[in-house]
Amino acid sequence: MAKVRTRIAPSPTGDPHVGTAYIALFNRCFALQHGGEFILRIEDTDQSRSTARSEQDILNALRWLGLDWAEGPDVGGPHGPYRQSQRSDIYRQHINVLLEKGHAFHCFCTSERLDALRAQQMENKQTAGYDGHCLSLTRAELDANLAAKVPHVVRMRVPDTGECVFHDRLRGEIRIAWEQIDMQVLMKSDHLPTYHFANVVDDHLMEITHVIRGEEWINSTPKHILLYQHFGWEHPQFCHMPLLRNPDKSKLSKRKNPTSISYYRDMGYMPEAMINYLGMMGWTMPDGREKFSIGEMQAAFDIDRVSLGGPVFDVAKLDWLNGKYIRENLSAEGFAEAFSKWAFSPEKIQKIIPLLKDRVERFSDVVPLAGFFLSGLLPVSASDFEHKQLSPEQCRKILQLCVWQLEQIQDWSRESVEQVCQRLAAFLGIKIRETLFPLFVAITGKAVSTSVIDSIYILGLDVGRARIRHAIEVLGGVSKKEVKELEKSLRELQSFSLPEIG
Ligand code: GLU
Repeated sequence: MAKVRTRIAPSPTGDPHVGTAYIALFNRCFALQHGGEFILRIEDTDQSRSTARSEQDILNALRWLGLDWAEGPDVGGPHGPYRQSQRSDIYRQHINVLLEKGHAFHCFCTSERLDALRAQQMENKQTAGYDGHCLSLTRAELDANLAAKVPHVVRMRVPDTGECVFHDRLRGEIRIAWEQIDMQVLMKSDHLPTYHFANVVDDHLMEITHVIRGEEWINSTPKHILLYQHFGWEHPQFCHMPLLRNPDKSKLSKRKNPTSISYYRDMGYMPEAMINYLGMMGWTMPDGREKFSIGEMQAAFDIDRVSLGGPVFDVAKLDWLNGKYIRENLSAEGFAEAFSKWAFSPEKIQKIIPLLKDRVERFSDVVPLAGFFLSGLLPVSASDFEHKQLSPEQCRKILQLCVWQLEQIQDWSRESVEQVCQRLAAFLGIKIRETLFPLFVAITGKAVSTSVIDSIYILGLDVGRARIRHAIEVLGGVSKKEVKELEKSLRELQSFSLPEIG
């Protein structure tokens, strides 16, 4: 039997998500348990949304959790490159194979035609999808278009009748009618591959034997299976894991729960507790014990025992488990070491010291002034936000618009945080001092403190966002109606340009 090889294939388009770590954990356990290999591939085909920073954050977060990989963009390996943006030649060769065999075709349809088609299909209550227009081009028309360099994509041919039947390791037989499957674009007009195409080519070339991924990919699997068939390749085994849920059973989302691994790291959770908790998502140890290490999970792991009932990611339960780890796994020295590493990372300290140095007279002034850098959510109450010029509603507005704008920052820096605050003040027509007031209280717990802009920058988006959200809740929260209004303001704010100074 071929060596078991599994992979995690994150797209570097945002924060390192707990869902990515959960899927990585199960892939890694499965591979290592079978004496196989777990690898990491970066799926950055969406060039407009992928960033180097997000890639780095994802790698750091997975490594912090102890989910290391045998091959990947940073460690190399025999199946590289491991970043899809560096594999264009490979995709080009493979798309030519499909074109030659007639399994894929050039499509010259304009976006106007496709929009009109979609609108028509919506009106007729049909499944939206490509209608095969360019399949009827003659050879001469095709050659003329290609010679004239008319912009085009490459799509895959899909059977129009019958169904795709495949086996899912956890779900058994799955049947999906081909008429529900669109003639997927495989290569975009910029000659970059789409996810579906690159994913299949890479899983094959990287010798992946088991694709263990989230259930949101079930409906894409027929396209993938068809591609394997078109190439004449054997497809890997598929195993779709249940999606993580909020305690109210909705899909885990950052609107309800912090979903970034960096948040949990910055809030001072232990990686061992975090990985243990992720191991409890859909999995229970045969003896029912709740506290287990990644090695113990690996030894006892049986993928066929994964339960499909939506696993709930409940921060209260994680807190309980983390407390247990702190009490039971750390000696006094261990605690001191782990705490100092978390609290006093040289990188963080170097940023904080300049804010304090000129403001303190004794070292004993440091904690009262800067303790908030080492805290989680702060004990603020509505009365802390009382202000002569600002109503609670205005405070909520400032906080909500600010957090939305902070989330948009691509390159997190002191300057970009400052710019968000300045623009917000100008947009609202409120003096910067006033605009910053609710932020001071939310972020530092006091109306007067070290520079709030620096503080947001140093604390980072994850903790900053959690504190601002907490402040909004303390101030009564935003009603559905208020959200609508705020979203309108946000749109205006986004198109607002700062008046020229001078
Ligand atoms: N890049 C995809 C993602 O971000 C990978 C999906 C898969 O595992 O096939 O989830």
